[in-house]
Amino acid sequence: MAKIKAIRGMNDILPEQTPVWQYFEQQVQAVLSSYGYSEIRTPIVEQTDLFKRSIGEVTDIVEKEMYTFEDRNGDSLTLRPEGTASCVRAAEEHGLLYNQVQRLWYRGQMFRHERPQKGRYRQFHQIGVEAFGMQGPDIDAEVILLTARLWRQLGLLDSVTLQLNTLGSSEARARFKHDLVVYLSERKEQLDEDSLRRLDSNPLRILDSKDAATQALLDDAPHFHDYLDDESREHFETLKALLDKAGVAYEVNPRLVRGLDYYCKTVFEWVTLELGSQGTVCAGGRYDGLVEQLGGKSTPAVGFAMGIERLVLLLETLGAIPASVHRTVDVYIASMGDAAAAEALLLAEELRADNAFRVQLHCGGGSFKSQMKKADRSGAAVALILGDNEVARGEVTLKPLRIDAEQQQLPRDRLAESLAGFINA
Ligand code: ATP
Ligand code: MG
Repeated sequence: MAKIKAIRGMNDILPEQTPVWQYFEQQVQAVLSSYGYSEIRTPIVEQTDLFKRSIGEVTDIVEKEMYTFEDRNGDSLTLRPEGTASCVRAAEEHGLLYNQVQRLWYRGQMFRHERPQKGRYRQFHQIGVEAFGMQGPDIDAEVILLTARLWRQLGLLDSVTLQLNTLGSSEARARFKHDLVVYLSERKEQLDEDSLRRLDSNPLRILDSKDAATQALLDDAPHFHDYLDDESREHFETLKALLDKAGVAYEVNPRLVRGLDYYCKTVFEWVTLELGSQGTVCAGGRYDGLVEQLGGKSTPAVGFAMGIERLVLLLETLGAIPASVHRTVDVYIASMGDAAAAEALLLAEELRADNAFRVQLHCGGGSFKSQMKKADRSGAAVALILGDNEVARGEVTLKPLRIDAEQQQLPRDRLAESLAGFINA
C-alpha cells in the first residue's frame, strides 16, 4: 500500500531539530518574562468572520490564503492565519481590555495556503506580542527594544536591520490613497500585473511591489509623509528619538506598509539579507482601531509577530547555536549481566533526582562494545558502567567520552560530585 505522507508545506520538526527550537523558544520566553509579558493560549480554529473582519477582505491572506472549512454544524471555521485577531477576540471576550493595560504574548502554529519555498510554509510557527491600552510611543519603543534585546542575546543583532515607518491616521491614509490612485490610474500601462489588480482593491500594497518599473513610477508619485497628520508625525518623531537614545539603529522606509489592513501609525520589520527573498523575520506595528472594529471599546494596541522557522534557519545559517544546545544527554549507563542491569535502573533513578542529571539508560542488553557505541552516539559526556564486580563492591566505572582521560572506579555514594565535574567541564 502507498504510504501516507505529510501535507505539502507542513513540516515535521524532527528530534535533531527540536533542541534548536527549544533553545530559541526558551530565550524568547526569558526575554518576554523580563519585560513582564504574560502568555495567552487561544484555539487554533476560529470563526471565519473573525479573520475577515480584522485582517480585511481584500488582503492576500483573506482572499487566497486561508484554510476555511465548514464543520458538521455548517459553521464556517478557519485555521488561524495569524495570532492578533484571536488574541484580541479572547482578551475582549474575557474582559481583559476594559480600562486596563495588558502585555500579552502567544506562540503557535499558523496556517496560510501559500506556495511553499524556503522560509515560507503552509503551517508555520510564530511567537507574537500584543500590548493593549497604551497609546504613546513609549510602548512602541518598548516592544522594539524587546526584539532588539532578543537578537542581541541570540547573536543575531549584526545580521538584522530594523525598518521603520508610520502609516498615520486612517484619515491621512485615505487622503493619500485617493491621490495615489489618481496618479497611478493615469499611468496604468506602466504598472505590473499584481499592482494593477491592487489599484482597486488595496492600493497601498502597491508601495510594496518588487517590480522595478513600478518602483520607478512611485518615485514621482505622491509621498505619504506629506499627508501625515500632526499627531502621527509627533508620535513617530518621539519614537525615533527614544530609539536613538536607547542606541537601537533603524532605517526609515517610507514604502513599508505591511500586508494587513489594521495597522496605523508605527509599523516595523526586522529584515535579514541571509535568507534570500524570505528576509522578514519579525514584523509588527500599532493597530489602534482593531479592538473597536471587532466590537469592543476603542483600545490602543501595538504588537508584532516573529516567524520561528525563519529565525531557526537564520541561527543555523550563521552557526549561532551554542554547542551545548545539541547535548541533550549527560550520562549514559551501560551494564553487563542481569543483576547489574537491575542495579543500573536504580542508579539511573538516583541520578535523576531533582533533575540533577540527564540520564540515558541502556535497555535491552547486548555486548559491551555495542553498548559503548550507543553511549558515544548519545552525545553523553560520560558513560557509567556496572558489572557484577562493581555491584559487589558498591562501585561504578566512569568512562569519559569527550575528553582524553582514563576511566576510573568510583564509590557509588560519591558519584554525583565526581560526575558534576565532568559534565560541567
Ligand atoms: P511575508 O511578506 O514574508 O509574506 P507577512 O507580511 O505575510 O510576511 P506577517 O503576517 O507579518 O508576515 O507574519 C509575521 C512573520 O511571520 C513574518 O515576518 C515571517 O517571519 C513569518 N511568516 C509569515 N508567513 C509565513 C509563512 N508562510 N511561512 C513561514 N513564516 C511566515
Ligand atoms: Mg505573506
